[in-house]
This record gives sequence, C-alpha cells and structure tokens, in this order.
Amino acid sequence: MQADILTIFPGFFRGPLDHGITRRACEMGLVTITVHDLREFTHDKHRTVDDRPFGGGEGMVLKPEPLFECLETLQVVPREDRVAGRVKQSVILLSAQGQRFDQAAAAELAALDHIVLMCGRYEGVDERVADFLADRELSIGDYVLSGGEMAAAVILEAVTRLLPGAVGNEASTRQESFTASPQAEGSEPAGGSGAKTNGPNSTCSSGGLLDYPHYTRPAEFRGMAVPEELMSGNHEEIRRWRRQRALEKTLLAKTKRADLPQFGAGDTVRVHVKIKEGDKERLQAFEGVVISRTKGPQASFTVRKISFGQGVERIFPVHSKVIDKVDLLRSSKVRRAKLYYLRGLRGKAARLRDAE
Ligand code: SAM
Repeated sequence: MQADILTIFPGFFRGPLDHGITRRACEMGLVTITVHDLREFTHDKHRTVDDRPFGGGEGMVLKPEPLFECLETLQVVPREDRVAGRVKQSVILLSAQGQRFDQAAAAELAALDHIVLMCGRYEGVDERVADFLADRELSIGDYVLSGGEMAAAVILEAVTRLLPGAVGNEASTRQESFTASPQAEGSEPAGGSGAKTNGPNSTCSSGGLLDYPHYTRPAEFRGMAVPEELMSGNHEEIRRWRRQRALEKTLLAKTKRADLPQFGAGDTVRVHVKIKEGDKERLQAFEGVVISRTKGPQASFTVRKISFGQGVERIFPVHSKVIDKVDLLRSSKVRRAKLYYLRGLRGKAARLRDAE
C-alpha cells in the first residue's frame, strides 16, 4: 500500500509512525508512507498556506492551492473514478465533521492500494477541497483537534495493522474488538498469507463482539488470580469461556452506567434510590461501605451500614434504573474484592484505612 500524508507539519510524523507495527510494516515493504510538506507547494517567499476567510470571521483558512497542487504530483486517478470505485484509491480529508472512522472503515481502507490523508489546520480547509478533491471526509471522534495530523496517525496505525503480514500472528487481528466478520474455523483470512492455525484452537473470532480478557504470567499476582478455566489446558473449555466473557463485555459496554463513579469494595458511598409511591417518585439515600462488587452483565454491589447498632445490607444491581446516582464519599485501602469479614466487626475494629 502507498500512503501519502499532506500536512504543514511534516516533522510531526517522525514520532508516531516510527514505532511498533507501523514501523515494521514500513520496513517489510507492506506500506510506503510519504509525508508531503504543503509549504513546498506555495509560490510566495513567505510560503503562505493560509488566508483570511471570505465574509469575515474568526481565524485563518487553509488555502486550496497547495493541496490541489500536491495531489497532482501523486499517482492518483480523477475523483469520479475513485468515487465510482473503479480504482483502489482514496483521497481523504481529515475533518471533525466527517464520517466517524471505525474498525469497518479501517478494514475498507486496508483493502486499497493507495490512500492520501489531507490534514487540515487553522479554522479548517477551504471547502472546495472537500467538494472537488477529497472523495471522503473522516473524523476520529466528536471533538475538535487543532489539526488533522493526530487523526491521520490514528487512521494509519489502525489500517496498517490490518495489512496482511503486518501483525506477526494474523489470527490475532481477526479476534480483536469490533472485527465484524466471524472467520470460519481453519479457513484462510481475507487477503491472508495462507498461514493457518495449527493445533488445537482455544481462541474465538470476534464476530463484532468486544475482545475477551487477556492474562499472562504470573498466575497469581498480589492475591489476584487468573481465571481457572484458562489454566485448564482444555481448549474447548477455554474457547467457551472466552466467548462468554466477550459476550458479557459487549453487553456491559452497551448498558454501562457511565454516570456512576468508579468505586469498589471498601469505599463509602451514598446511593440515591428512586422510590415510587403511587404516581409520585422520591429519592431515598442509603449510605454505607461497599463490602462487595461483582462484574459482568448481572453486576451488583453490596452496601453495608450500621443502623441503630445493627448491620443492614443492600444489594444494588449496577445497571438498575432505580439508582438515580451514587456519590463516592470516601475511598479506603483494601486488598480484597469482598469484605464479608466486616460483618463480624463493630465500632473502631470495622473502620477502614482511608486511601491516600
Ligand atoms: N472549524 C472546524 C470545525 O469546527 O469543524 C475545526 C477545525 S480544526 C481546529 C482544524 C483541523 O483539524 C480540521 O480541518 C481537521 O483536519 C482537523 N480535525 C479536527 N478535529 C478532527 C477530528 N475529530 N477528526 C479528524 N480531524 C480533525
């Protein structure tokens, strides 16, 4: 693949593209990345690439001429042919207003022979570039960056690792999060090198799910153990366990209460619970120490408080709509995920040490 980057800051790319898989892919000749300095395509002594906006307003606008002239030096066919899909080329304008770049777009670009990434700056790029030069506009997220360089680096990294041969073990890119098409067991990957997995297969293809959790040595670290299933040596059991965890993670991400604070066992919280009385709703606070927190789609946390000298516990499902909000009042230093031993303690003995 040939990738050309058009920018006013060519030096920016020395860092991001010079590491890991992108660097390796360049060294292996899987991709040739050429960075073009747009100032080389100016004709005045100040090498001007920007100008004031017609109609007035804030800031400066990246001029169209350097982008058009630079693109004309590259081996790129006319826009109509690219848009019609007659060639495996794409000229992309990085823009916060563009189509959201995702794994499917990365796979689509990885199947092309030539991509051109045009980086905007200032208030943006003269609109004629989007209308007559680029065949698509891509955004890496709903936020505004100062320039397209960071976005171009993100896109190139995501695309490069999908090029056949770029990642040592090709199967690993098929098992990753967001990878849509499940691969038939033992079949060759799209555009693959013919390498098939030998021996028993304990992995499962992503099929659009988020990736399953990964663990490595040591099997036990500071009291945190690796799930038994992964140590069983039973490939079918491991494959099933991974599939199950991937499903759970995906489901969890879809239903995640992003509004809840990060808290765990040992923390003191105030849970505001919605109480329905007839057609009225009110909030009731339950304040205490979290003595356990579980993960997964059925995730819950147990809060214990002392009321009139008696221990009272409530289990709250994390995703429950009856929880209006949770305030994190105090964080404590504990090592265990479940603090059931607190049930037997009273007064000072039940006090936990605050986290620094
Ligand atoms: N005035 C523009 C707007 O509100 O949409 C923002 C211009 S931004 C400061 C300058 C350049 O950064 C853009 O032309 C684009 O190339 C790049 N850029 C900013 N945010 C981006 C994003 N989320 N994804 C891709 N490129 C982005």
